Amino acid sequence: MNLILLGAPGAGKGTLAAFLIEKMGVPSVSTGNILREAIANNTELGQKAKQFMDAGQLVPDQLVIDLLRDRIAQDDCKNGFILDGFPRTIPQAEALDTIANIDVALSLEVPDEVIEGRMTGRRVCLKCGATYHIKANPPKVEGVCDKCGDKLHIRKDDHPDVVQHRLATYHEQTEPLKDYYGKQGKVKSIDGTQGIQQTERFAVQALGL
Ligand code: AMP
Repeated sequence: MNLILLGAPGAGKGTLAAFLIEKMGVPSVSTGNILREAIANNTELGQKAKQFMDAGQLVPDQLVIDLLRDRIAQDDCKNGFILDGFPRTIPQAEALDTIANIDVALSLEVPDEVIEGRMTGRRVCLKCGATYHIKANPPKVEGVCDKCGDKLHIRKDDHPDVVQHRLATYHEQTEPLKDYYGKQGKVKSIDGTQGIQQTERFAVQALGL
């Protein structure tokens, strides 16, 4: 199955993707994680993306379309993939339609007020991409990734003023994708406010896993 996770930044796409990787046996592709890794490694891609990401703005479409195309052309994606954070704009969705067949767009519904609370508590591992929340999903040892033992970070774009900007960008540019995939009959919506395990149950039900 080729699956897209739709939802505001902080809706829980990364956390749900980590669960679905196991459940579905396919990799998840997070353009945000690929870009953060590129920045950490100071690659050309990272240098191009950094200013946009730090400001909570979207990286230009062509940049992410190219990196997504390369990533899903890799062998591990040939039996399916989960997209987390892509597409984020209509032009990205149109480009994706020329690259792959999407089966389902699973939309995680979470109101803005809930998102704001979540983002300030988010911690991420830059090495393996795992995400945590200091209250809802804490690591076993504070500040340390359970999976790979690396140090956890607060994303620059999780600071409150940047969060506001990202939510506005989401409503303006990404939310219209629900309509885009709705017209193709591919949207399934689930409540993302009921905790991690309940969200996982809703997803399993919606996807018929
Ligand atoms: P995320 O980890 O998905 O929240 O992404 C973090 C940041 O990476 C976003 O705020 C954007 O600056 C950039 N980014 C990630 N995916 C995309 C995308 N599909 N299109 C444009 N920018 C993206």
